[in-house]
Amino acid sequence: MKTASSDSRTETDFSETEAAFATFIRRLIQDAATLRAIDSGEVDAILDPVSGRAILLPEAREALRQSEVPTNQVLATLPREEYQRLRAGLELVTLTFGDVLHEPGELIQHIYFPNEGLLVSLLTLVQDRMGLEIGLVGSEGMVGLPVAQGIDTSSVRAVVQGTGTALRMESSQFRQALETSPALQRTLHRYTYALIAQITQTAACSRFHQVEARLARWLLMASDRLQSNSIHFTQEWLADLLGVRRVGVTLAASALQQQRLIQYSRGNITILDREGLKASACECYQKIKDIFDRA
Ligand SMILES: [Zn+2]
Repeated sequence: MKTASSDSRTETDFSETEAAFATFIRRLIQDAATLRAIDSGEVDAILDPVSGRAILLPEAREALRQSEVPTNQVLATLPREEYQRLRAGLELVTLTFGDVLHEPGELIQHIYFPNEGLLVSLLTLVQDRMGLEIGLVGSEGMVGLPVAQGIDTSSVRAVVQGTGTALRMESSQFRQALETSPALQRTLHRYTYALIAQITQTAACSRFHQVEARLARWLLMASDRLQSNSIHFTQEWLADLLGVRRVGVTLAASALQQQRLIQYSRGNITILDREGLKASACECYQKIKDIFDRA
């Protein structure tokens, strides 16, 4: 994605006509060189200095909308005609670290299909604090699963990790689309089963397994879903997710680093030895992975 600034955040929910949109863009852009770059198609998005958000230009927006193959695996498994029917209601959004998609007890306005590279944590809150992570959703899944079961409120907080894109749909529209898409129903039944298995395994893991093994398990799960060996995280955030004190995460990360399984520096964790990390992880990693692979 070529942007007119270093910020790659995009906003795709503009409903103005293209003409009004073009006027809006020209009001935002003051210098002639940038305007020329936009006109010549060298720039796909511009930065709104007021909101700090990048705004996707119409051509790039259309190119993304026309993109035939979704990287979300739930959508990718659908027969072409079923995906084509869904596509009209799907909107591409870019999400960044800390964005809250759903809150416990609140209406689920949109469901989200994360694309490759986006990770969403499902957290159970305790005394309204940042809570324990009970589920991790990447491009293999969907956020807002209760809607598929006819429930319109969330029981968890869904928080974005890292930055990436997702295709989202209004819940009411999704409910209608689901009724006429047997393949989507079948895929989501299997995904629901796998996610419940992940949640139950995570509950047992939190109670019985040591922090170091849990951290190794979590890094492998995140890495699988991000399809990257590099993960951005602060130890404080990880401590919250795992429900342990920060010092516990520091000690566990140091131990894994001393074994040269990971490298940790300033919020960046890199997996150096995947097989070694698997050997250090508790059995929950492989159990959860097997269930997802079979589902
Ligand atoms: Zn475990």
